[in-house]
Amino acid sequence: MCGIIGVSALPDAARLAYLGLYALQHRGQESAGMVVIDQHGTARSHRGMGLVSENFDDEILAGLPGDVAVGHTRYSTTGSTVLANAQPCNVNTRCGPLAIAHNGNLINADALKRDLVERGAIFTSSSDTEVLVHLIARSEADTVDEQIREALEQVDGAYSLVITVGRTMYAVVDSRGFRPLVIGRMGHGIVVASESCALDLIGASFHCELRPGDFVRIDNGQVTHLPRLAPRPVTRCVFELVYFARPDSMVFGESVDRVRRELGRQLAREQPAPGGDVVFSVPDSSNAMALGFAEESGIKLEYGLIRNHYVGRTFINPTQALRTAKVKIKFNPVREVIHGKSVVVVDDSLVRGNTSKELVQMIRAAGAREVHLRLGSPPITGPCYYGIDTPSREELIAATHSIEEIRQFLGVDTLGYLSLNGMLHAAGKDTGFCHACFSGKYPTPTPNDPVRLRHATPLIATPA
Ligand code: AMP
Repeated sequence: MCGIIGVSALPDAARLAYLGLYALQHRGQESAGMVVIDQHGTARSHRGMGLVSENFDDEILAGLPGDVAVGHTRYSTTGSTVLANAQPCNVNTRCGPLAIAHNGNLINADALKRDLVERGAIFTSSSDTEVLVHLIARSEADTVDEQIREALEQVDGAYSLVITVGRTMYAVVDSRGFRPLVIGRMGHGIVVASESCALDLIGASFHCELRPGDFVRIDNGQVTHLPRLAPRPVTRCVFELVYFARPDSMVFGESVDRVRRELGRQLAREQPAPGGDVVFSVPDSSNAMALGFAEESGIKLEYGLIRNHYVGRTFINPTQALRTAKVKIKFNPVREVIHGKSVVVVDDSLVRGNTSKELVQMIRAAGAREVHLRLGSPPITGPCYYGIDTPSREELIAATHSIEEIRQFLGVDTLGYLSLNGMLHAAGKDTGFCHACFSGKYPTPTPNDPVRLRHATPLIATPA
């Protein structure tokens, strides 16, 4: 997953993009970067591994003058965790400097890349986004609008994009609409962001959310809607609402907070925990769900786990060793709340089961009499090919174990998942959703070997 930001026609665009990236930090913590274009069309960039705050300071921002900026926070789903894969991708083309920030995952990138390499293209990263750079730069269409459209017509999968060519910015969402993208206004300028929480921090007002297939050009504060991409059935990623987006954002026309509370209420209806003394969340992603569960069940809401805010999202680190070490320093139980009680723990999802197993051990060690785990989404049984980091089926505990086996593995007294229908109803019954990771119903052909894609390391690709 990634966070993307675009700033157009606003003085000191670098500083605004920095603020926007700060608000989108939860969408990716492996690298951060921005490309800033000045009044003369000169592009300057800065990218680095790690957090936004670790990569930018006053001096670096001062070295990025301009009123147009495109920025990115990354966590890898395709391509390995190296600086070469940090975004935005930026190159010089015959139409001027080109920069791309991409949120999503292209499912046919490997095949396109092989073809491009055979025709002489040289790649400097293993990220799928670089394929788009080549397709745009090589297009022989007459206008930049058409060059980008021609490239987009060749790629398949999930993409929300902010692109700059010279001083002109484009914002695009693929026709299935997997990932969110919003537009805000600020004075005479425009801000584009993955989530509306970035507009709030910058001080821009919400203008609109891009619909699936929307393709817009932004020039000097003017937003022009170009002909839309060929329509396809809409499959918004339901996991954005369940886990990924911030609760203070509006995503797919919904308040994420409202959806999460409703998921919690629905969970309490479907999977009650009679006899529970207290309910608490695994902070922070399931806070609103625990609130909804407590409201519906009448069980008292408490803070049973305290999260150390100076540790990033555990799961977001791509290696198992890093993940396990971080769970322990991320959460600590509140003994006063837990000791001697029958506790209901609400989490948004269960992926590998590792975090939860360790948490349950902690909660028991803090004296819980009974532990009842409730999950605000159904069992995750399949990988995501559209930008969420769940690459292999073998790693997903619910793909290979029954609910009773999972209960035993986690060491809980009872385990209850929300149903698929319950989740979709709470998420907004009129929206078309992608729920492939829960249901196995993939809206696109599935790539054969996503694990190989993700861990591909060559910087200069060679034909397979
Ligand atoms: P685990 O117990 O190891 O299955 O981890 C489950 C935890 O990971 C839950 O608390 C979720 O909030 C979180 N989570 C679920 N999906 C993801 C994801 N794609 N990236 C990061 N964290 C996730």
